[in-house]
Parts: sequence; structure tokens; C-alpha cells
Amino acid sequence: MTPASDSAYPHLFTPLDLGFTQLRNRVLMGSMHTGLEDRARDFPRLAAYFAERAEGGVGLIVTGGFAPNVVGWLKPFGGKLSWPWEVRPHRQLTAAAHQHGAKICLQLLHAGRYAYHPLSVAPSKLKAPINPFIPRALSARGVERHIGDYANSARLAREAGYDGVEVMGSEGYLINEFIAPRTNARTDKWGGDARQRMRFAVEIVRRIREACGPDFIIIYRLSLVDLVTDGSDWEEIVLQAKAIEAAGATIINSGIGWHEARIPTIATSVPRGAFAGVTAKLKPHVGVPVVASNRINMPDVAERILAGGGADLVSLARPLLADPQWANKARAGRPDRINTCIACNQACLDHVFENKLASCLVNPRAAHETELVYRPTTSPKKVAVVGAGPAGLACATVAAERGHRVTLFDAGDEIGGQFNVAKRIPGKEEFHETLRYFRNRLDETGVEVRLGTRADADQLAGFDEIVLATGITPRRVDFPGADHAKVVDYLDVVLGRVTVGPRAAIIGAGGIGFDVGEFLSHAGPSPALDVKRWMTEWGVDATYESRGALSRPHPEPSPRKLWLLQRSPGRPGARLGKTTGWIHRATLKAKGVTMLGGVEYLGVDDAGLNIRFEGVEQRLDVDHVVICAGQESNRTLLDSLTAAGIRTHVIGGADVAAELDAKRAIDQGSRVAAAL
Ligand code: FAD
Ligand code: NAP
Ligand code: SF4
Repeated sequence: MTPASDSAYPHLFTPLDLGFTQLRNRVLMGSMHTGLEDRARDFPRLAAYFAERAEGGVGLIVTGGFAPNVVGWLKPFGGKLSWPWEVRPHRQLTAAAHQHGAKICLQLLHAGRYAYHPLSVAPSKLKAPINPFIPRALSARGVERHIGDYANSARLAREAGYDGVEVMGSEGYLINEFIAPRTNARTDKWGGDARQRMRFAVEIVRRIREACGPDFIIIYRLSLVDLVTDGSDWEEIVLQAKAIEAAGATIINSGIGWHEARIPTIATSVPRGAFAGVTAKLKPHVGVPVVASNRINMPDVAERILAGGGADLVSLARPLLADPQWANKARAGRPDRINTCIACNQACLDHVFENKLASCLVNPRAAHETELVYRPTTSPKKVAVVGAGPAGLACATVAAERGHRVTLFDAGDEIGGQFNVAKRIPGKEEFHETLRYFRNRLDETGVEVRLGTRADADQLAGFDEIVLATGITPRRVDFPGADHAKVVDYLDVVLGRVTVGPRAAIIGAGGIGFDVGEFLSHAGPSPALDVKRWMTEWGVDATYESRGALSRPHPEPSPRKLWLLQRSPGRPGARLGKTTGWIHRATLKAKGVTMLGGVEYLGVDDAGLNIRFEGVEQRLDVDHVVICAGQESNRTLLDSLTAAGIRTHVIGGADVAAELDAKRAIDQGSRVAAAL
């Protein structure tokens, strides 16, 4: 490629010539299910969502998955394109992308045995470990019919104005299930050796090309690492890629890990660009452009991959939820202005799994573009925001963006509130980016920031609107010995005010208890910053040669013996995020942390922590007891303002501390500011 010379990221902004069409740059917006795909009446909202990303400069958008037939639905009445009358609503989506110079492809996704309904089908009758429904094995005629359904959907996509389709061949969905020996036990021509198992995928691509002609983009998402036992080996992957190219694919995208894999692939603790190496390993084997994917969230990571010749495009999915202007900001050489995806999954993937509309923790407008609008104000006011944690930062910057004159107070000497604690947890390094973003955004929007200022009622006189975002205080416990020298709270520990001894008990197994567990069970630099160490810990074969790219995990030993305790019965961590909770539990298990639910705290004394567990009294001989017992709203200022008859808006932890997270804090702060 001849790099574009007018950008700080020349490889990223070099157009890509596909022969019959051209992409304006190398940024592909990866497929994401938002929940707006399932009903045509939501398509105007979906169009607005795509329009913002297209206007923001992406080269090629891939939609969320649409099934080629009913049995391929992800869930009952999920997104599907199989009938001519389903074409029309899609024209809004294609027009939205084209209007702003982006290309758009429809993703064809047949859920196979991951379908969450009783009609599911698969190559063989083998239940997925993450789905209660048992699939029916497709008959040979059924397989042929399915190939026709894919070609039919692609033809309809073309009619709807799409520039092409992406065939989802990875992540453990139907096509991937044909390819891997793990899920294909067929003895007919669609099963057996690698060539027979890949026949379904190859025929789908061939028939789509036949149905749609030569000037139609076919992206094939190929599982380059399955991360499950009995997945494909490297030789089979190369064979498949060559056959897919020969069948007519235009681009090969990288699929990383099945949904049932027990190795994280996109969580915040996965190093940036961790899997780009496998795309680079494939690239010399094919002539078509290849796309690197997973945890590429900043332009320098993307540019490095492209400049190193390891890929022709980069796929960014969640980073474009976080900031629709990602590409424009990168092109302008302003990565410091990017609202970076912190890979928390809290508002995107977790929502999808909870059947809620997806959004983004750091950008609550994502997929809510038509409903949460930051209109310029017609009556600028003097606004005081007290507290520069996530809630206050979101509120202050949105209010200022709308034209209000905003003063932001914080008692601390830096902005960020509890994010300054969170960013110190190994695997949460991305939280630094949110603070960097807000620091610049305060500057850009002209917010007057008063740090080291504990606001009181006098200071708040003269403002038209007062927003209290004073956050929380850690909850104290009240069992005997709670004031013993061994007892410390999580702030003391994470902020380095105490050095925890070689044996410690953590009281409270919520998000913070688990984070403190990670903090105390790691030594040295975070594995999230070192791909090699991270792969060794989790058991990813760095050569990618073995079946499923699996190797034996070698977790680094914990420098301490830890107990993580909760009073409620059941498994600690059951209430953590749907798509990330298992990662936290697996990490602590690998570090030898003893996790107990249903514990009664009897007290702390010089000998340690006394508990009753399963009816038996025990002493945990620990040096420290770390309290992570939740939080209470900090309402001191609210009480004095209310007493003085001053009306305020209360947001974030100051409003409700229970179940508080940054998603709610930022969303609430933004919404209050949008209404001022
Ligand atoms: P805070 O962040 O508590 O900010 C309140 C601010 O108000 C503080 O800066 C304080 O100095 C200031 N203040 C208080 N009184 C005054 C006053 N009178 N005058 C001036 N300033 C004042 N959430 C997630 O969603 N995902 C996570 O992965 C996550 N991980 C976490 C990990 C850890 C270790 C911790 C501690 C928290 C984590 N959280 C996480 C929780 C998240 O940080 C909080 O939900 C969020 O910070 C709450 O935001 P807030 O703005 O309401 O309050
Ligand atoms: P939390 O999730 O409410 O957990 C508090 C823990 O303390 C619970 O395990 C609770 O369990 C225990 N507890 C409550 N009262 C107690 C008492 N009086 N004595 C002893 N134990 C008590 O709160 P958190 O861990 O402080 O987290 C705060 C918020 O930050 C969470 O809502 C979370 O969403 C967010 N956060 C998220 C992440 C993430 O990765 N997504 C990470 C960190 C924090 P028992 O009552 O059963 O003992
Ligand atoms: Fe990224 Fe978290 Fe936003 Fe999802 S919710 S896009 S993971 S920052």
C-alpha cells in the first residue's frame, strides 16, 4: 500500500481498492448486535446510529447479524432477511451509510446451536455448553436448503443497497460448527476430513458470488483461533482460507474464539491487539485483503498492525460505540480527543445478553442517538457541578457543550473520583483513557475546574443550577474487632496506604472485592500489558499451530494467600457482569484464592478473622482483613443545601449507592445535563 501522506496514521487512512469499488480508509466497523436489528420499526434509530459512524469517517460498516432463515435466528423473532418484503426497511440503513461516504455490508449470521429457541439446527445433535436448547442435526437436504438461503439473503441484501455481505463463519456459529471436529460428527459429504467439513462454508461463498455477481463485497469471517478443544488446527485454517478465497470472497476477517471458549478475547484484561499476530500469520497465504480484529481501540495500535504488514484493514467494533468520531479524530491527528472503549462490556455485550438495548458505558448516546440529544441551549445558565467523578465529569462536559457556563468542583487534587482507584487494578489500565478523555473534554468545552476545593453552601451561592455528584463513602462493618489494626478498607489498600501481609481476607465479594482480589494476587506489571505473559497465563498457543490454539495455562503464582468472603449463600461473583464475571472468577481461582459464600463474621482479633462457615467456627490466620462491603451515598453537602432551601440535582453515587457503577453514573450525569 502507498500510505496516505496527510495523516498521522498514514496506513490507516490509505484507501483500499477492491477492484470494483474503493474503501476510503482501512477502518472497518465490526458487526455488533444492538437490539435495534430485530424490529423494522427500530430501523430509523438504527439508521441514525449508522449515520453518526459513517459521518465519523469509518470506511466500511458491517451491520449486526441477520439470519438467512427462521431456524438461524439468534433468538425468537430476531433480525432476519429472507423475504422480499423485508428488504425495504434496510434501504434506510444503506442510505444512511452512503450519504456520508461509507460502504456498508449486511452480516449474515446463522446462530446454529447458539440459537436461543427450540428450532435450532446444527451439523450434529450436540448441545452447546452455553445454551439449554439441543439442536436438531440438519439432513443432507437441509444443508443444501441452507446454502440456498444464504445466497437468497445475499441477493436481497444487494437489492436493499448493501455493498456486500459478511458471512459469519466464526465464533462457534453454524458455519464454524461445520468446520470444527468438535461439533461436526457427520459421516456424509458435509463431515469427515477438513475438506469435507469446510464444504458448507465454501459452497455458501460460491453460491453468494454466483447470485450477486462480481461487483459485490463478500467478507468471510474465518475463525483463526477457536480457543476450544477439538477446534481447527493451523493447517486446516490455511486450507479453509485458500478455499474461501477461491470460492469468491473479497476480504477475510479474523474471528477470534468461540462464545463457549473459556479464554477471554475482548475483555479489558486482554492486551490491546493481542490476536493481531494470527492475522499476520494468515496474510501470506492468501491474496485477498485480511482484517485484524479484537482489542484494537486506539489509532496507534491500528497503525502499528497495518504498517507492520500484518493486515490490510482493522476491525473496530466497540470503539465505535464509544466514539462515533473515532476515525475523524484519528485522521486529524487528535487521538487525545478519542473517547476510548475501555472494553468493560457493561453497556454493550452485557446488555445484549440481558435482552436490553446495547449502549456504551462511556457514551450513553450509542444506539440512543435519536433519544438522547445534546441540543445547544437557548438560555445559558451558570451551573455548578460538585464532584469530578464519572457522574460529575459527564454532567459538566455535556452541560458546557450545550452552552451553559459550568464550574466543576472537586475536593481532590485530580479529576476522576473512584476511577482513580479503579485504574490501579491490574487489567483496568484502560480507565486511564477515560480520565484523559474527560481532562481534554473539560478543556475543550470550557468548564472551569476548581480542584482541591471542597464545595460548601456558601461557594454555591449565585449559581442557577447546582448538580451534586459527590459520590460515595465506603461502608463500615460493625462486627467485633472491626476497629482492630488488621482491618483496612479497599481505598487504603489500592491507594497504597497500607502494605498487605502474605495472608489476607477480603470481606465482600462484589465488583470491588474481586478487583481487590486481583490487585493483591498479582505481582509485577499487569499481564494486560504483555501479550506473551497473558497468553501463557491463559493457555493460548502463541504459535497458533495446535488444535483450537490451546496450550496448557500457566498462571503466575499469587504473592499472597487470599480468602474472598461474602455473607450471602451461593457462589461469590454470581452477580458480576454477564460476559466478564466468569473471567474474574477464573482468574482468582487460578491464583488459588479461596472463595466462600454463606460466611458469618464473628470478629477480628490478634490471631486473625473468626468466621462461621457451614455451621463450623474457623479462624483464618490472616495479617489483614480488607473491607469491600459496598458503599453509602455521600450526602453531607446535600443535607446542608436542603436545610438552606437550595434546590439541587443529585446524580451518581450521591443519588443511589447500591448497585452503583460508572455506567449509571455517566448515563445519569449526561441525561441531567441534556435537560438543564
Ligand atoms: P465518585 O467517583 O465517587 O466521585 C465523587 C467525587 O466527588 C470525588 O472525586 C470526591 O472527591 C468529590 N466530592 C465529594 N464531596 C465533595 C465536595 N463537597 N466538594 C467537592 N468535591 C467533592 N464501575 C464500573 O462501572 N466498572 C468498573 O469496572 C468499576 N471498577 C471499579 C473498581 C474499583 C476499585 C472502584 C473503587 C470502583 C469501580 N467502579 C467501577 C465504580 C465506579 O468507579 C463508580 O461507580 C463511579 O466512580 C461513581 O461515580 P460518581 O461520580 O458518582 O462518584
Ligand atoms: P457491591 O457489589 O454492592 O458488593 C458489596 C459486597 O459487600 C457484597 O459482596 C456484600 O455481600 C458485602 N456486604 C454488604 N454489606 C456488608 C456488611 N455490612 N458487612 C459485610 N459485608 C457486606 O459493591 P462493591 O463491590 O463495593 O462495588 C460497587 C459498585 O462498583 C458495584 O455495584 C459494581 O457494579 C461496581 N464495580 C464494577 C466492577 C466491574 O468489573 N464491572 C468492578 C468493581 C466495581 P454480602 O452482603 O453477601 O456479604
Ligand atoms: Fe466499550 Fe464498555 Fe462502551 Fe462496551 S460499554 S463499547 S466495552 S466502553
